[in-house]
Order: sequence, then structure tokens, then C-alpha cells
Amino acid sequence: MGKISTLLDEVAEADIKNVEVNYRGIFQKTLARKICKTLVYAAKEEERTGFSYGRYSDAPERNGVPCKYFAVVAEMSEEDLEAEAGAKIEPNDVNVSIVVDDTMVKGVEPWGFSGIRPINEKVKLGGTLLVVSERSPLELLKNVAKKDFPYKIAVVPGKHSFSGLWVYKDDFTDARVLGALARIEPDIVGLEALRKVVPEKLGAEKIDALNDGYKSVIIKSIAPGEGIDWPYSIPTLPKWHEFKEGIVVKSVARGGRNEDYKRFTTRTMRPVIRFDTCIKCDLCWYACPDECFDPTPDGLFDVNYNYCVGCGRCAEVCPVPNTIVMVDELKFENNDSPYHEYKKDKEAYIEWADQKMGEKRVNYPFVTGTGLIEENVKKNDGEKG
Ligand code: SF4
Ligand code: SF4
Repeated sequence: MGKISTLLDEVAEADIKNVEVNYRGIFQKTLARKICKTLVYAAKEEERTGFSYGRYSDAPERNGVPCKYFAVVAEMSEEDLEAEAGAKIEPNDVNVSIVVDDTMVKGVEPWGFSGIRPINEKVKLGGTLLVVSERSPLELLKNVAKKDFPYKIAVVPGKHSFSGLWVYKDDFTDARVLGALARIEPDIVGLEALRKVVPEKLGAEKIDALNDGYKSVIIKSIAPGEGIDWPYSIPTLPKWHEFKEGIVVKSVARGGRNEDYKRFTTRTMRPVIRFDTCIKCDLCWYACPDECFDPTPDGLFDVNYNYCVGCGRCAEVCPVPNTIVMVDELKFENNDSPYHEYKKDKEAYIEWADQKMGEKRVNYPFVTGTGLIEENVKKNDGEKG
């Protein structure tokens, strides 16, 4: 009897399709919700059942913290789906894991006690990690943990859409992601059904973006063992019977840094500093809300990338043009001290910093309808002010 009920459970689970959307807390929540909600409406057009829900939404949800939204779709009655999947905090595994900010492929840490997790952790055998990115699947794979079974990485071309913003800056990423999903997993949602619901749920102007997502998605099969050895350990939580009486929460020393929760996975961009043009005005050190700057013996300010959340405040207040520039997080391989590199070899550091900064700067202050705007700038020639 036990064997039969286990088998029935497995059959029921196989009939249920799970999709998760990994998004940056607050900034991309509307985007994640719209993707999941529209997916469920489209599945219902195809006479499937479904629902969507959010997780990691502590109140208030924290800026940039990796969060998840889910959509569940099945060919069964609403009652059966509710009974099978309704009470789960999150699915055990997913058919498709969507990532709307590609810098999250470096790892996600929703809570300090969760540790830094691989972005493909929940992707099941034969499933897909679908990333909005300007990079190829193989470039992204350089940051993704290896799995012991085959799956796919798919890319729908685009920039991380709203990170770092307080407004919903619509660049139609929702429709493009849904189009890509219809191509990857037509059993979850079909393109025709999406064509019917997108005009009403997302806007008639998004039909071209939906078709574009369907056509432009790049899909790459990943073999078992492809990817990296995951460098972070997952904290072991005490079992319920190992808790001591009462509640003990270890405090962080005032003015200190929390060793257990470094927050760098909340970052989409990081500040790169040209120490040679710094005028030692203190403003970055004073303005950083996360106290990431450490004064150095020669009056400069080193940045601790383990704790930087990438808010961009330091770049905004720095009075010397191009001395602090925010740069795409995927361009970096570690959180090492830039000041130490500068002291080791000043010329090599300046060349490195210039190369990372490039000649484009993101311009945030406008709601464009087309996403981030990048503008060319004059390169830093070493002039102070
Ligand atoms: S971007 Fe600058 S101001 Fe913001 S957390 Fe990082 S170092 Fe601090
Ligand atoms: S704000 Fe700019 S110029 Fe002032 S100390 Fe920081 S890096 Fe130097």
C-alpha cells in the first residue's frame, strides 16, 4: 500500500509544472509578479489550472535581496492542485527557473541562515535556467554550480531591467520572458494562449516583445558535471531538539560587520575606484549607508566588496568625475581589496580600473520605457576636478 501511494504521489507531482522567478527584492517585484500572474492566466486559456504566489517577502522586503515568485500549473482540478501544491512554502524542484537579473547567477542569499545558494539549485532533471542577459549561456555557466544531471541554460537577450530603481521602468522584459518560456516549455504555456492574454494583462503594445522573446531565446544543453565547484558552504541549522531553552540571537557588535551575512549577493553593480584621482574628501566614506569604506594610512578609502550592496551612493557623491564608477557585477571574479591591488602596482591597477569602467555610464534618472540608458563618457585622464 505504501509503495502504491508513493507512486501515486510521484505521478501527481509529475503532472504539476513549477516555475520560479528569481528577482531583486523591491526593484523587480512587480516584474516577477507580472510574469507569474500572466503565465497562470494563459495556462487557464489552455484549460489548465494554476496559481501564483510570492516568497521571501519579509516586511518590508529588502532592497536587492534575492527573492522568489512562483507559478504552478497543472492539468488537474483546482481542488486537486490546491491539495497537492497549495500549502508548500516553495516547490522541491522546478521545471524552469527564471532569473531577471543575470548578476544573480553568482549566487543568491535570501537570508543569512540560508547561505549563498547556486542559482540553478532548484532546476530539475531536463529543466531550464532561463536568464535575461546580454551574455551567452556558456559565459553565464562560469558562475553556475555543476549538477550531476543534464539540464539547459537559456538566455533571452536583455539587460537586468529595473535594478537600483524605485520606479517601475518598463522595458517589456515581462513579455519577452513569457515568449521565451513558451518556446522552452510549451507544456507549461503556449504562445497562442499568451497572445490572447498579454494584450489585456500586460498591454497590447507588448505583443511584439512577446514574439521577440519566443524567437530570440538561445538554448544550450548542459551536461552533468559542467559548471563550477560551488565555493560557498551551506550553514547547518540546529535540529529542533538541539535548541537550547529560550531564544538566543547573537548580536553584531556596534560599528562591526556581520560575518554571517555579508550582503554582497544583493548587488547588481559595484563601485570601481580610481585612487590616483581621489582628493581624499571623505564623502564616500561618510555617505555609504553600509559603512563599506575603510580609511587607509595614506588618507584614501578602500572599499570592502564583501559588504557593498551596490547602491551607487558613493559614485553619486564623489566630486571628482569618473573617480567612482558603478560597473556590472558580472565583470568581476572576487571581492578582493582594490586598494591592495593599487598599492601593489599603481599603473596596472589604473589600467585595470579604466578597462572595467569602460566608456559607457548608466544613466538612471529617466523613466524611458526602454530600460537602462548608457551614454558614452570622456575617459578619465587623471585630472583632479
Ligand atoms: S555602492 Fe558605494 S555607497 Fe553603496 S554600499 Fe557600495 S560602497 Fe557603499
Ligand atoms: S568621494 Fe571620491 S574624491 Fe572623495 S574620498 Fe571618496 S573617492 Fe576620494
